[in-house]
Order: sequence, then C-alpha cells, then structure tokens
Amino acid sequence: MEVLKQKIREQGVVISDQVLKLDALLNHQIDPALTMQMGREFAAKFSEDGVTRIVTVESSGIPVAFAAAVEMGVPLVFARRKKTLLADPDAYCERVPSFTKGIVTDIMVSREFLGPEDRVLFIDDIIANGDAAKGVIKIIERSGAELVGFGVVVEKCFQSGASTLREQGIRVESLAKIKSLSDGEVHFA
Ligand code: 5GP
Repeated sequence: MEVLKQKIREQGVVISDQVLKLDALLNHQIDPALTMQMGREFAAKFSEDGVTRIVTVESSGIPVAFAAAVEMGVPLVFARRKKTLLADPDAYCERVPSFTKGIVTDIMVSREFLGPEDRVLFIDDIIANGDAAKGVIKIIERSGAELVGFGVVVEKCFQSGASTLREQGIRVESLAKIKSLSDGEVHFA
C-alpha cells in the first residue's frame, strides 16, 4: 500500500536494525484517514471469505481492526491483556511474550464472543517473531472458529513470524513489507 509506505518513510523512526518506531501513525498517535484506508484494504482482500468476526489484540491492533470491521459490517473482538491469569472458565487464555516490552503477558477472549459458528479475520499492527499472533491464533482455534486469514499492517520480513504462519498454511496479507532496517533506513521488500 503505497500511501502507507510513504507515511512510514516520513514518520517512522528506526530505533535499531530490529525495531521501527511507528508511534506517529500506529502505536501512539492514530492517523484516522490512513487507518480507514487500511481498513478498506483489508476488507477488500477478504471480501469473499464470509467473515463473521474480526479479532485483534489490545491496544495497537484496535484502530485498524475497527476500520476493517466498519467496512465489513461485522463485530470486532479484541483480546484483552490481563495482569494476572486467574483461571477463568468463561475465557480462552494464552500467555505470550511481548517483543517490545520484554515481558510475558496473558491475553484472553471471552467464550461469549467467539465460537464454532465464526469465520474469523485476525488483524494486527506489526508482526515480528509472531508470538502475539500465535497466541491469538491458538485462542481462535480453541474456540472452534475458523481462521480465514491474518491481515497485518507491517510485516518485518527479516523476522520469522509471518513466514512461519504461511508455512502453517495460514493466509497472511500485509500492507507493507519491510525487508530490512539496516543503516538506519527502512527498506521495503
Ligand atoms: P511479535 O509477537 O510478532 O514478535 O511482535 C508483535 C508485537 O510487538 C506487535 O503487535 C507490536 O506491537 C510489537 N512490535 C514488534 N516489532 C515492533 C517494531 O519494530 N516496532 C514497533 N513499534 N512495535 C513492534
């Protein structure tokens, strides 16, 4: 998505050869017009898949997942991050390491909002090693819902998350693919 790549060039800050700060458009401030455009893009890519629910993780996945949900006319469910994982029989829970925070967090989705009747589009902001995505996908699978695909705003191709999911047969659609962050610059694939 060319407009997204342009914004990343203009507003992204390369922190290291592993990490790109996108606070100006994804992780702190939201660009509403761009976010709605990204939602339309995901909605178009998955328009033939009979999606009944969109699932994301709080917090940075929510705006773009919401935009896609508006376009597709389906509910959005966001996995919540919990401080403690008390056994909750009414929720699907998974423990995931956090790439940026260096800690583990527990994510949960209530059984009320996901079930075998669902065809789910999972949307998130960035994929690196894929730990967050794997946790959410496990929850979707445990609910009995069908995962129709994963839409991600930024795929860092030099980390293994997206390719591992594709190898597992999961359809992954990214709006911007970054092949490296070497020399303090963003290099798109
Ligand atoms: P993963 O679980 O795939 O290793 O990391 C995914 C999550 O970590 C994303 O949802 C995102 O919030 C955060 N993350 C991973 N890499 C980056 C990065 O380069 N920049 C930013 N801003 N967040 C990242």
